[in-house]
Amino acid sequence: MAIKRTGKSGEKNVGDTARPDLLTPQITAAEAPNPEGNEEGLRPKTLQDYIGQSSLKAVLGIAIAAAKNRQEAMDHLLLYGPPGLGKTTLALILAQEMGVSCKITAAPALERPRDITGLLIGLQPGDILFIDEIHRLNRLTEELLYPAMEDYRLDITMGKGNSAKIRSLPLPRFTLIGATTKVGALTSPLRDRFGLIQRLQFYDLDELQQIILRTAQLLKTAITPNGARAIASRSRGTPRIANRLLKRVRDYAQVKQQTEIGAELAAEALDVYQVDQQGLDWTDRLVLQTLIDQFQGGPAGLEALAAATGEDSRTIEEVYEPYLLQIGYLSRTPRGRIATRAAYEHLGLVAPQRMEQLPLFETDLG
Ligand code: ADP
Repeated sequence: MAIKRTGKSGEKNVGDTARPDLLTPQITAAEAPNPEGNEEGLRPKTLQDYIGQSSLKAVLGIAIAAAKNRQEAMDHLLLYGPPGLGKTTLALILAQEMGVSCKITAAPALERPRDITGLLIGLQPGDILFIDEIHRLNRLTEELLYPAMEDYRLDITMGKGNSAKIRSLPLPRFTLIGATTKVGALTSPLRDRFGLIQRLQFYDLDELQQIILRTAQLLKTAITPNGARAIASRSRGTPRIANRLLKRVRDYAQVKQQTEIGAELAAEALDVYQVDQQGLDWTDRLVLQTLIDQFQGGPAGLEALAAATGEDSRTIEEVYEPYLLQIGYLSRTPRGRIATRAAYEHLGLVAPQRMEQLPLFETDLG
């Protein structure tokens, strides 16, 4: 299977919406694909090696088997969920399982119509085209994708003004895999053209522990099951963060001249890196503390919260909020964000009485 990366930098956008720090679920420059491997070397290569996401794997297993049986390309697939949960990895695995090539790009790299037409024309029958951050496609590019996805046809406009003509070129049957952190931001014509729409879930402790043990083996690092669990519990349900924390703990162990990572050493190291027991860093705590101090616990609008914390609103929404919602520290209501009782308790504060009447939190990412 060939992997081709496209886009201006030759790879997908790196750390686009956030500071590249320890708990950012986006890929950082150091982890980006390069000749030495890094994140690329840690990716599982088969569906069997891909830990967790069992119901998603079951659905994809059926889709692969059916497509192979019919000797056709798989249906177009939309994967959504927070960064670092394994969307790109899955696309590469699907290509591997189907025995086809996978071209990887990201919407911000598809600025001009010729960026997408170039990619489409270069596809071989059955190939997978992976577009990350697909909710950020511009209108022209998106409109070129409609006939390509539906009828495997590329409509190119030749000439300008009244004399402009549309020429249609046939395309091979291919599979588009779109990935997004914000499924609600996709236009419905685009969303409707995906045969399968699947959400990736945050990983539980057992799954993260397994991922860390597997990565430690690849990195030739000795770690106990409890050591892996200690790192897992601070990894925000996200494999990319789990792998990153493992590498930092490995550095710490090396400097402390320890040959094996145990639970105590892992906890000690992560305290030094200021990753708390729930995997929150100072920005998470700042968001919660600001909501409590300056907005009496909320509700507060996203923009107001961004202004008060000095953080970018998209970063709060796409990077910090999903996990705070997931662990029930934040709730999203039509009137804005609210800090929950659990958030007060985590910060060592007493929640006000009125919290009893607040609505239940919701965790929808859309
Ligand atoms: P996304 O595309 O959702 O941002 P990636 O597919 O790039 O996430 O995954 C980030 C890293 O996390 C990968 O390099 C891989 O090593 C690891 N990873 C993700 N999902 C899994 C999994 N299910 N099992 C093992 N490792 C995983």
